[in-house]
Amino acid sequence: MSGSPNDPSMTPRPLHPATIAVTAGRPPHEPDEPLNVPITMTSTYVATGDLEYGRYGNPTWSAFEEALGALEGGRALAFASGMAAATTLLDLVGQDGGVVAPRHSYSGTIAALADFESRGRLHATLVDIVDTAAVIAAMEADEDCALLWLESPTNPALEIADIPALVAAAHRLGIQVVVDNTFATPLLQQPIALGADIVLHSATKYIAGHSDVLMGALVTAHEDVYAALKGRRDLMGAVPGPFETWLVLRGLRTLHVRLERAQANATELARRLADHPAVEEVRYPGFGAIIAPVLVGGVDAADFLVRATSLWVHATSLGGVESTFERRRRWKLEATSIPEGLVRMSVGIEDVEDLWNDLVQALDRIS
Ligand SMILES: *Cc1c(COP(=O)(O)O)cnc(C)c1O
Repeated sequence: MSGSPNDPSMTPRPLHPATIAVTAGRPPHEPDEPLNVPITMTSTYVATGDLEYGRYGNPTWSAFEEALGALEGGRALAFASGMAAATTLLDLVGQDGGVVAPRHSYSGTIAALADFESRGRLHATLVDIVDTAAVIAAMEADEDCALLWLESPTNPALEIADIPALVAAAHRLGIQVVVDNTFATPLLQQPIALGADIVLHSATKYIAGHSDVLMGALVTAHEDVYAALKGRRDLMGAVPGPFETWLVLRGLRTLHVRLERAQANATELARRLADHPAVEEVRYPGFGAIIAPVLVGGVDAADFLVRATSLWVHATSLGGVESTFERRRRWKLEATSIPEGLVRMSVGIEDVEDLWNDLVQALDRIS
């Protein structure tokens, strides 16, 4: 063992994300400590400590928050779902404040913005997120704009925002920026390092990774924003159960391995799909594991495809180990600018040849 404090090998080096995913938030390495944080099932704590009551804090949440915070470069707060995180954040926008958001945001986000707007709480401006100049113009045009909502890649159009340019413009105007990082995960994109103020996750998706739990999170590197979000979570009560949090933390431990395999499968399937005559175009930003082929045959072809496979499961949601897909326009809430024949595919970690064979036998039968 090296020992001298001046030994250069003792200088701590920043850990790589894979190591953080596995090691952050664990109990101390001391005799009889469990390796994994236990599930602390309690509604209250013996008084005069730091926690006091189950809505304010929980040791299982803290372990998850430490791990996600370390990956995103900020302090994390666990929520009951991605939408619980989203609506808690929107509730912090002042009366009559403005929010600029992608027109192809996750449909639940669009619905929440419309709901807040219909109750006279705030006003939303929906923009084409790839048109950086138009997004900046929308922020400049609204003197009450308080929040720039980014989602990149968008769900399900898979558009990419120029996050550093938009953050710089927003901050010049005194506008805070949140990035919904659900699709990219902190392994492929770290919005705080790109200047964003807040990161939002539907942990239901890649972070949990097994399609068996709902949870959400917000992360920020600003202490005042953290305190405001924590205060709002305490009041709104949008908190997850300790067991759910433990499941999500268990999922997070393998995020890097799952994502690497899913991304490799997605890259290969995007390439092969683009060459199939039943496919008009394939949307794929070049990273991550969501791909969105648009079928030549439109609605009918897409509806046929999602019923004609045996491995691919026709289901909404994404980010699990298993491959799922759906025609997004089957949802009334989905933007009408999304093509009717677009099938959003969440590529899992199965063998890529099996996934391809299952798809191609169906695609070949589309007349
Ligand atoms: C699913 C999803 C959400 C909402 O998260 P829930 O956990 O379902 O509440 C938000 N943003 C994106 C990009 C999503 O895919």
